[in-house]
Amino acid sequence: MLYLVPTPIGNLQDITFRAIEILKGVDKILAEDTRVTKKLLLHYNIERPLMSYHTHNEHKITENIISYLSSGENLALVSDAGTPGISDPGYLLIKACHENNIKVVSLPGASASITAIAGSGLPSNRFHFEGFLPHKKGRNKRWEFLKDYPYSIIIYESPFRVVKLLKEICENLGDDRRVSIARELTKIYEEIELKTCKEHLDLYLEKQKIKGEFVVIVSPKNEK
Ligand code: SAM
Repeated sequence: MLYLVPTPIGNLQDITFRAIEILKGVDKILAEDTRVTKKLLLHYNIERPLMSYHTHNEHKITENIISYLSSGENLALVSDAGTPGISDPGYLLIKACHENNIKVVSLPGASASITAIAGSGLPSNRFHFEGFLPHKKGRNKRWEFLKDYPYSIIIYESPFRVVKLLKEICENLGDDRRVSIARELTKIYEEIELKTCKEHLDLYLEKQKIKGEFVVIVSPKNEK
C-alpha cells in the first residue's frame, strides 16, 4: 500500500509516533527532495531506501511506482515539509493508486494551512484553500473569484512576493479587509498577526528584508 506521511513544517518534534513507525517499516520512501528527508530520517534513526518523487519526474515515474506497489511493496510518500499532495507532489500517484486498486493510507499530521487557520483569529468554520496563486497567467481571474468569496481564504506565499500579494489584496478586496499573516509557524521566530490589509502592507513596506515562510489568510467578505 501507499502511505502518505506528513512531516514537520519547522519543529522536528511535530511528527506522530505512527508516522515514525511507518517510515521505519516501509520498503522505500518516496521523497520530494532526498537531501531534506535524509535529515529527518537521521534525526529519528530511520534507515530506509529513498527514491526521488517530485514535480519534475512524477509523470515519468508514476507507472514505475505503481509496479512496485502492485508487486506487494509498501511505500511511503513524504514531501519536504507538511502533508504530501497539499501544494506538494502526490496527486498523480495517489490518483493512480486508486485507479489500480492499491490501498492509500493517509496519515494525519502537520500542514501549514490548518495550523495557520486554526490560529488566525478569522472564521474557520468554512474556508477556501487557494494555495499558491498563479504568478502571471490566470492571476486576475483568481482575484475575480476571490473578491466576493464569503469565507476565509488560505493563501501560501513566498517571502519574495508577500508585498505584491498584500498590495493585490488591498486593491482587489479593499484596504480594510482583515488579514492574518502566519510566519515561520512552529519555528523560533514564529508569529501570527491579525490586522487590516493596509496595516500589514505599511509594516512590510518598511522592512529591509523579508524572510521566512508565510501563510496569508484573508477574512470573508462581510466578516461578522
Ligand atoms: N505540503 C505543505 C503543507 O502541508 O503545508 C505545503 C508545501 S508548500 C510547497 C510550502 C508553503 O507552505 C510555503 O511557501 C508557505 O507558504 C507554507 N509553509 C510551509 N511551512 C510553513 C511554516 N513553517 N510557516 C508558514 N508557512 C509555511
